[in-house]
Amino acid sequence: MRFGLTGWPVSHSLSPRLHNAALSAVGLDGEYCLYPIDPSEPDGLLNLTNKIRSGELAGLNVTIPHKQNIIPMVDELTSTAKSIGAINTIYLRNGRLIGDNTDAQGFMADLHKNASAVMSSSGKAMVFGAGGSARAVITGLLNSGWRVVIAARDIHQAQNLALYFSNQHPGKSVEAGFLDQRYLTPLMSSVNLLVNTTPIGMVPNTDNSPWPVDLAWPKKIFVYDLVYNPRRTKLVTEAMSLGLGAVGGLGMLVEQAALAFELWTGFEAPREVMYSAVE
Ligand code: NAP
Repeated sequence: MRFGLTGWPVSHSLSPRLHNAALSAVGLDGEYCLYPIDPSEPDGLLNLTNKIRSGELAGLNVTIPHKQNIIPMVDELTSTAKSIGAINTIYLRNGRLIGDNTDAQGFMADLHKNASAVMSSSGKAMVFGAGGSARAVITGLLNSGWRVVIAARDIHQAQNLALYFSNQHPGKSVEAGFLDQRYLTPLMSSVNLLVNTTPIGMVPNTDNSPWPVDLAWPKKIFVYDLVYNPRRTKLVTEAMSLGLGAVGGLGMLVEQAALAFELWTGFEAPREVMYSAVE
């Protein structure tokens, strides 16, 4: 069984380590390879999706910049992929090419694992950033009953995303504002979860944190940082030093891969093996 990841560039990806460890742990004769496709290459993605149709590939992961470009090449989107507006996993079902997205469920599963104390259907989550991963996080949160506030440096990006999700999930609360002390201060007492979906704090800029310097930390909040390189970002370290619960994004990376593995193979993913392979 051959699987793979397409994107541009993809050489830095941890996915081959995750999936090849999983394949050998469950005893499947298979391989997970990288398929870098230059966005200027006209037929690259189409040729790759045809390999899934023909059975040459049993499944494909998709990353930046192709998560949206590839949508017209599948026959069907799952409701999650539709809500996120992007595909990260493709497979064939009954002759039809399905575009799915395991990021939302991967995020929620790891959140449940690490933050069971704050998991409440009436909770309010603050999401920093309004890019691709924010869409997956917000989809997962809204589907689980959370109210969401999006804070971004670009207010239009935040407002557009809030409008998109308000239309997609009528009756659910999605607000938007600036990622700054002025907007955030009055909200902080009612927020019990913070999710960072910006790349701030990622290697090599490990001294940076998305938390505004002049914003006071609330007494009770759980911090989930999607950044997994370094394993403990400045945001996570700061929250932990205040006695708050906090975790980085490696568990989400493992979980989204585990869910794709299960969709492709039908085998339960060996999550601990996968985690050790990238830890
Ligand atoms: P993206 O689509 O580029 O979105 C990034 C968001 O962060 C945008 O809203 C961007 O705003 C904002 N941003 C970037 N730099 C900023 C800064 N200095 N100050 C304030 N806002 C800033 O990226 P993404 O795909 O969502 O990925 C974001 C991070 O999540 C990356 O570090 C990625 O590795 C991580 N991630 C982790 C997982 C996981 O499984 N753990 C999954 C997906 C992503 P502008 O548009 O204004 O630049």
